[in-house]
Amino acid sequence: MAKKRILSGMQPSGLLHLGNYYGALKNWIELQEQFECFYFVADWHSLTTLYEDPSHIKKYTFEVAVDWLSAGLDPGKSTLFVQSRIPEHAELHLILSMVVPVPWLERNPTYKEKQVEVKNVDMSSYGFLGYPVLQTADIVLYNADYVPVGIDQAPHLEISREIVRRFNGLYKKKVFKEPQAKISEIPKLNGIDGRKMSKSYNNAIYLSDTEKDITKKVKAMLTDPARGLRTDPGDPDVCNLFPFHKLYSPEDMQKEIDRDCRTAALGCGDCKLKLVDTMLEGLRPHMERRREIAAKPREVEEILEEGTRKAQKVAKATLDRAKQAIKF
Ligand code: SF4
Repeated sequence: MAKKRILSGMQPSGLLHLGNYYGALKNWIELQEQFECFYFVADWHSLTTLYEDPSHIKKYTFEVAVDWLSAGLDPGKSTLFVQSRIPEHAELHLILSMVVPVPWLERNPTYKEKQVEVKNVDMSSYGFLGYPVLQTADIVLYNADYVPVGIDQAPHLEISREIVRRFNGLYKKKVFKEPQAKISEIPKLNGIDGRKMSKSYNNAIYLSDTEKDITKKVKAMLTDPARGLRTDPGDPDVCNLFPFHKLYSPEDMQKEIDRDCRTAALGCGDCKLKLVDTMLEGLRPHMERRREIAAKPREVEEILEEGTRKAQKVAKATLDRAKQAIKF
């Protein structure tokens, strides 16, 4: 039986951090064992926020690909490609944009939230309003069965499903497949200051960080804010650092920390040193692979070229079907 198909993308708007790894990449790596996966660098999407200075998008496209490969995406199992190298994405975006009512896009909660959240860029662009249409083109070009999402992002896919229904209904042909959400559990992992891990908050631990960077960042991490004195008992359940122990430290160490924190037998300084040790041990193989892969940019480029060739064949066939449906 043919494998079901997965489609997902990541914007090259900065270096990838642990939030990106645990929030998406780790899941992508697992999914490639069971599904036929298409993963793309969403460089056109990153223009929605970086249109004023797009000069780093190309560099980050390479860095994202290096992170993917060093984390474990396997070009033998997954098709890895760059969105802007396949013009079919733009062409289908244009065709779909003709059938999408503007109020559908204006209702999109992300559109409204970003107008408030993003302070340094004017997010009232036509391109940003229409990003769900481009996203729909990205998905349906590959006849994706599933799009991996966290539980809170599942509604984001609904607009793509509505667009598919509208197009198929208008032209009375099942040209596109309605994508389903593939929901995965995402561990809660904040940045070193306790806010959502993000490049823009300058609080992220990057997959490309050195041992020195990681040590410095762990030592600067916010812990239980109520623990003012070393002699005050702490609470790992509200501590910003403890979730990292859950990911990197052995279970017996986690239990010991949980117990000793609550009785103040363990201070935050020592707890951080334990985390530095376990985290570096966990991340060292990735760091090593990253160094090796980044030293061979030609090979990375060949992987993206090969993936782009393979993806474009599928995209072209879908776009041809869409054009037949509209009698072009
Ligand atoms: S001892 Fe560890 S778990 Fe407890 S508050 Fe400090 S850093 Fe957090």
